[in-house]
Amino acid sequence: MVQALVKSRKAPTKPASTAGKTKTSEKNKPFPQASLTVNSWEDDPESGVPLTAPAPDLAKTPLAFTFPNPAPKPDTYPPGTSQFRYWTAAVALRRGADYWARRVPLKRWQAGSSLKVILDLGEDLNAYYNRTALVFFHGPSPTGTIYSGESPDVACHELGHAVLDAFKPELWGAASQEVAAFHESFGDISAIMSAIQLPSLRNAILTATGGRFYQNSRLSRLAEQLGNAIRASEPGSVDPDCLRNAVNSFTYQDPATLPSRAPAVQLSSEPHSFSRLFTGAFFEILGASLAAKAAKPKQPNEQELLSVANDLAGFLVEAVKSSSVVANWYAQVAAAMVVAAGSDAIYTSCIKGVFVRRGILSLHSAASLPDVAQVAALAAVQKATPALESLPTIGLSAPHYGLDGMLFVEAAVQPRQYLVTSAATDATPATAPSGSAAAMAFVDDLFTRGRIDYGEVVPEKYRLGDGGRLKTHALVKVDGGARLQRRLFDCGLCAYGLGH
Ligand SMILES: [Zn+2]
Repeated sequence: MVQALVKSRKAPTKPASTAGKTKTSEKNKPFPQASLTVNSWEDDPESGVPLTAPAPDLAKTPLAFTFPNPAPKPDTYPPGTSQFRYWTAAVALRRGADYWARRVPLKRWQAGSSLKVILDLGEDLNAYYNRTALVFFHGPSPTGTIYSGESPDVACHELGHAVLDAFKPELWGAASQEVAAFHESFGDISAIMSAIQLPSLRNAILTATGGRFYQNSRLSRLAEQLGNAIRASEPGSVDPDCLRNAVNSFTYQDPATLPSRAPAVQLSSEPHSFSRLFTGAFFEILGASLAAKAAKPKQPNEQELLSVANDLAGFLVEAVKSSSVVANWYAQVAAAMVVAAGSDAIYTSCIKGVFVRRGILSLHSAASLPDVAQVAALAAVQKATPALESLPTIGLSAPHYGLDGMLFVEAAVQPRQYLVTSAATDATPATAPSGSAAAMAFVDDLFTRGRIDYGEVVPEKYRLGDGGRLKTHALVKVDGGARLQRRLFDCGLCAYGLGH
C-alpha cells in the first residue's frame, strides 16, 4: 500500500505515447510544446503509469463533454494537482467517447450533444451516471485523499453507462437483475476497451502476460485505487487487488437464487458483483480469440490484440442492439454475439466455448443457434416487425415494501429472439424466470440493500433504515400506487455511502 502511494504520486517522467509531437506552422513558428500536451494516467492512479497526450478537444462532436469552467490551461501538470486531475479525466473520456462513437456508431448522448462532467461533487467513494452527467467524488483512503475521476478506469466505466444508455435506452429502467448487472459489465468493458486503444498499454500488457493474455494484469484489474479505499473500510467487499477483476472463475447461477450481498469472493445478485461474470467471460473470449487468431499463438502482437478486441467489441454492440430485453438477458446477448460473429468459425467457436464453460449459455442452447443462412432469413422477418422502444409496465403486489397499492415497474418481457437459456448448475438448460418474477427479485434486492428513495410515498414507520446509501432508484406516487424510477448507475461496491 505504501509502495503504491509512492508510485501513484510519482510525477510522469517520460511520455508513454508517441502522440505528443507537435507540428510547425507554415511560417515555421513552433507551437509552445508545453501548452499542447497534458499529463495523465494510462489506466489507474494505482498503476501509476504516466501518459502524455495531446490536450483533448472536449467540445468535439459527436459525443462532446461539458467540463467545469474555467478549464486549466493545457500543460504538463504534476500528479496531485487539480489541473492534473482535470486533464486526466479529459484525456480518458475523450479517448473512450471517440472509440464508442465510431464503434457503435453514435451521434449523441441520451442527454443531447454534450454530456456534463462534474469532477468532484463532494465526499464519497463512488462515481455515477444519471443521464444528464458523469459525476465523480473524493474520499479517504489509506494513502490519503483519492479522487474517483482521476482514474481512467472509473471515468471510462461511467462513460460506458452513458454510451450504452445512448444506444439501448430501454435497459435504463428495466426491473431485472441481469440487465442492471450487464450495464455494470458494459462499463467495465468500456474501461478495458478504452485502455486497449493505447499502443503503449497493449505492448505493456502483452509483455507482462507473456502472450497468455487471460491472466491477472493491470488491464484486468479495474479501479485499483478506489478498490483499495473501499477495502480499508469494508474488508472483503471488493477484490483483494482492485475494485473488480475481469479475470475470475465465476459461473452462471440465476441471480434470483443468489444472496443480495456477499463477500467479493462469491457471486451475489448485487449488480456490480454479478457483472463480473459477464466481464470475465468477455475478457476470457478476448484471450482465447487472440491466441486463436495470432500468427504466433504464444506471441500475439499489439496490432493483433487491437484488431481482435475491436472485433469482439463490435460483436458485443451488435448483440446488444439486436437482443430482446428479457430476464435471462445474459443468454440473449451471448447468443446474439455468436450470431454477430457470423461465418468466422474461429470467433464463433471461442465465443460459444467460453459462454458454455461459464454457464451463460447452456450446451443445448449453444448447439441450437441458427446458422448464417437462418440468421439472414430471421433478420429479413424482423425488419418487417416494428421495434419495441420501451418496456411494458407491470404492477407488483407491494405490501411488503410498505406501499399502499401496486408498485409499477418496467419489466424485461420482450418477445425472445432466440430460444436460449443459461445453464443450471448440472449443465442442463435453466428455466428462465418470468419477467414478473425477475422484477420482483430485482425490487426485493433494491429495498433490501437500501437503494430506494421512499420520497413521500411510504410512511416513516414502514421504512427501512438505509445507512445513508446512495439511492439508485426513487418511488414516484401515481394513481393506484407508486412507480419505480431509476435515478442513476453508480460504480462502487461501497455498502455504506459517505456523506449521503
Ligand atoms: Zn457502474
